[in-house]
Amino acid sequence: MTTIERHLYDVVVIGAGGAGLRAAIEARLAGKRTAIISKSLFGKAHTVMAEGGAAAALGNVNSRDNWMVHFRDTMRGGKFLNNFRMAELHAKEAPERIWELETYGALFDRTKDGRISQRNFGGHEYPRLAHVGDRTGLELIRTLQQKIVSLQQEDYAETGSYESRIRVFQETTITELLLDGDRVAGAFGYYRESGEFLLFEAPAVVLATGGVGRSYKVTSNSWEYTGDGHALALRSGATLINMEFLQFHPTGMVWPPSVKGILVTESVRGDGGVLRNSEGKRFMFDYVPDVFRKQYAETEEEADRWYTDPDNNRRPPELLPRDEVARAINSEVKAGRGSPAGGVFLDIASRMPAEQIIRRLPSMHHQFKELADVDITKEPMEVGPTCHYVMGGVEVEPDTGAAFGSVLGLFAAGEVSGGMHGSNRLGGNSLSDLLVFGKRAGEHAAAYVDALGGRPKVSKVDVAAAAEVALAPLARTGGENPYTLQQDLQAVMGDLVGIIRRAGELTDALKRLHELRSRVANVSAEGGRRYNPGWHLALDLRNMLVVSECTAKAALEREESRGGHTREDYPKMNPEWRRINLVCSLDESGDVVLERKPVPRMRDELIELFDRSELSKYLTDEELAEVEEH
Ligand code: FAD
Repeated sequence: MTTIERHLYDVVVIGAGGAGLRAAIEARLAGKRTAIISKSLFGKAHTVMAEGGAAAALGNVNSRDNWMVHFRDTMRGGKFLNNFRMAELHAKEAPERIWELETYGALFDRTKDGRISQRNFGGHEYPRLAHVGDRTGLELIRTLQQKIVSLQQEDYAETGSYESRIRVFQETTITELLLDGDRVAGAFGYYRESGEFLLFEAPAVVLATGGVGRSYKVTSNSWEYTGDGHALALRSGATLINMEFLQFHPTGMVWPPSVKGILVTESVRGDGGVLRNSEGKRFMFDYVPDVFRKQYAETEEEADRWYTDPDNNRRPPELLPRDEVARAINSEVKAGRGSPAGGVFLDIASRMPAEQIIRRLPSMHHQFKELADVDITKEPMEVGPTCHYVMGGVEVEPDTGAAFGSVLGLFAAGEVSGGMHGSNRLGGNSLSDLLVFGKRAGEHAAAYVDALGGRPKVSKVDVAAAAEVALAPLARTGGENPYTLQQDLQAVMGDLVGIIRRAGELTDALKRLHELRSRVANVSAEGGRRYNPGWHLALDLRNMLVVSECTAKAALEREESRGGHTREDYPKMNPEWRRINLVCSLDESGDVVLERKPVPRMRDELIELFDRSELSKYLTDEELAEVEEH
């Protein structure tokens, strides 16, 4: 008989990156017994890998910056498809969340007069990223963990147990959410080391599981990013929004092959690095789209002057939003002007003294030296696009993080949630997003628990079913190999649902994903339950598959190019499509269903922050007439 360890909590937070930790802190501050669950070791989440910084309009380096400018930049970056309310809350609250981190013990780099320093990043009008060298995520996670330890010490003083109100379950994977009718009742999972099962009974769950990048072979994402939270949400009756929008970061390492995809931070370009093709040309000047032409320099001289005199010059085109730069690199390589390893050159060596490169970009210097034997203070890096971030995610109520759909008590924050970044996220906006919305989700999950009449009950039948599903790959013999299946899935997504998409290929992708479904249902894993990565992957595959189906289906449906979705057969942005969100859910037989929903209309005082000439690039004539009327 299978034994199952049982735990009782008020709020279960799945994910221990920035969003999860910030949510857990808030739930605990509201007096709730809170569990934090993490698939990897505690502290090892994507958040820790974030290099460049957290975007917040503190106005420390340029006093013209404020929340309204940040809001405008975020909406432009997302090509106006963002949930405007989320973009507004984010721009308004990010500075407070950064300050708050310092009260928890963080120490950001300083300006000469002792204020939090801020660096330039693509799409941000002013230097806006609060940073700690190029190891910002490490400081963020360190600080949030420290805050959790300090709360545990308070609990110890009061109750005699460090874990009475907040407990971390690391190397623990959640495979299923459990419901009581339409309400969340708990979560089911297993310890990765022992393979033993656990059941969390809790009326509120916050999903903070991060991204989906492992469905692609070339990715900056690490092993645990298999879209688990997205799939858990879908299976429990929640909806996903805009899953067609994936961010291919323009600069991943392209050589050696073993490290292909590892991120090269945008800070290299923010600090003055330039992109050149094999002919030595700074090609980004040829790729400034009309919507951005007014804001970007037309000559190298003007672009270079901007670094020292940003008020009187326009920004270099290397700092266009990521989707634009990734597409430009893709075009250069396709046109035969790529580097030997199939990327382009990113040059910081000729732009900055060696000592300054080592001080400002220590991780990049170390990464290239160790992994590629390239000294970036002397020679250019070879870089190319890598799957990095998913803009789509759980459809949430903007103020609370509560998931839409048929389920109550489910919340989502951070990368797993959708809407905030529209069709393309600006660099630095994720770290601030997860602080702002992590706090909100924790707060509202706690309020939801307070407002509940009775606690929902976990059904024995559901627990038994979850255990059976988890054990199935071990019980099956001679089934499909999980590693082969993952490679096949990655090939479909990389080749047919990649950076440039076409109707025929997307149709083919959907057919192949459908075929993969029966193969994944027949996956088997050799060995037992003790630390067995093949079994773990076998369980992750169904999540990757259903999320990939949402992406492919939405990518076929959206007949335009916008942000992180480029259709070769529909190369332009279409204002009619800007009014539409694609919402993904599962029907009763578990098939992916896609629905069109109108994008909420921006409030008048926010619309007024934009020039009419700018609005006319994004809105339909009908919408423009409406704006004029108000
Ligand atoms: P994550 O930090 O990704 O954490 C997810 C957590 O969920 C992990 O603890 C994981 O173990 C857990 N989990 C997942 N599935 C399960 C499951 N089934 N059961 C239990 N636990 C589960 N953004 C910026 O704003 N600025 C930057 O400079 C920047 N640099 C980046 C550099 C790199 C290399 C990468 C990969 C990303 C970078 N980003 C940056 C993006 C940003 O780091 C992420 O989007 C962000 O950290 C996501 O935070 P999160 O809290 O949502 O999730």
